[in-house]
This record gives sequence, C-alpha cells and structure tokens, in this order.
Amino acid sequence: MARYRDANCKLCRREGEKLFLKGHRCVTDKCAFERRSYAPGQHGQRMRYKVSDYGKQLREKQKVRRVYGILENQFRNYFVKAAGKTGVTGENLLQMLECRMDNIVYRLGFAPSRKAARQLVRHRHFSVNGRIVDIPSFQVKPNDLIKVRDKSKNLDIIHSSIKEFAQTDELAWLRLNKAALEGELLEVPSRENIPVAANEQLIVELYSK
Ligand code: SF4
Repeated sequence: MARYRDANCKLCRREGEKLFLKGHRCVTDKCAFERRSYAPGQHGQRMRYKVSDYGKQLREKQKVRRVYGILENQFRNYFVKAAGKTGVTGENLLQMLECRMDNIVYRLGFAPSRKAARQLVRHRHFSVNGRIVDIPSFQVKPNDLIKVRDKSKNLDIIHSSIKEFAQTDELAWLRLNKAALEGELLEVPSRENIPVAANEQLIVELYSK
C-alpha cells in the first residue's frame, strides 16, 4: 500500500502553516515550522511570487490532502463520491474525510496524530460495533461504537494520547468514555463543526475544471 514516506514537517513548511502532523512535537519549540517558516528546499526562502487562481486551488487541495494523510488518487476518489452525493460537494468531501476510521481514532484522542492513528488501526487495536476494523479508510457511521480491544488496553500511546489529545470536549459530535476506552460518533459533523481551516470550495473548483 503506497504511503508518504518523506519528512512530515516539510509539508507544513510547504503549505505555509502548521498542519499538526506529528502529535506532541507540534506544540513544542521543536516544531520545524516555528524555526523555519519558509518553504523547504534550496530556494524556499526566495519563493515570493504571485500565486495564480489555479495555484491557490492547488495549494488548498494539497493542504487538506496532507492534513488527512491521503494520496492523490484516493483523494480524487473521495471528491468523485462527494460530488455524486446530494448536498454541498465541499462539505460532503470534508464529512467523508472526518468519518474515516483513522481520523475518528485521532479525534477521540486514542492517537497523537492521524499517522499514528492509522498505524494503530492497521495493527488491529480497535473494533467497531464489536468487529475488528483494520482499514484506516473505513467509514464510521453515526451511532457506531469504537472500542480499544481488550488486548490493547494497556498500550502507553493510547493512555498518554487521551490525556493530551482528546478533542471530544470541543467536538459535540463525538462522545468519549475515557474509563472504558471507547467512543461514539454521534452524528456526521456539519461544516462549521469540522475544525479544519480550509476553503473547500477551491478544491471543488480545481477538480471541476
Ligand atoms: Fe508541522 Fe508538527 Fe512538524 Fe510543526 S512539528 S512542522 S506542526 S508536523
């Protein structure tokens, strides 16, 4: 299965903002973007050109794709599905991304980053409604119950992450039971409840050309 293997911090520097891809490190002085907030590469500090409309659309798409850790082909497939649904395409797209299993595990705080969540899911540490789910792109539905499996309840990464990264206080569409190490998707979040600073309309325009 293809995946991005280069340095994550380069992605933040390329997008010109913190994408919070590395968990705890992102909120410390070690954050690469805090120290070098210019684009990576030999000419990164000299890149001061005017960005075209196409460039803005492309950057927005790349940013959202990188936030959720998805490669191009899969991201385009999400767009095609989102466009085929009723409702606003950009909102549909973000909703589908938010309901991915790896994202829900991250939002519940079981992992410090989506990348770590993805690995935990792949290693079969979670079940949904009693069935093991090891597919990061699995779409979680409202009222689905996500549980840490019994054999995984002693994992340090899960306990330390919950203390530091659980976002359920801010996200009313998720419920977390810290003691039982389980969580629930209460509803598909509306756009205003998805904490991703992106202009998804630019992505729609890019793919609609
Ligand atoms: Fe981005 Fe986190 Fe790296 Fe900072 S530490 S540049 S926020 S991935």
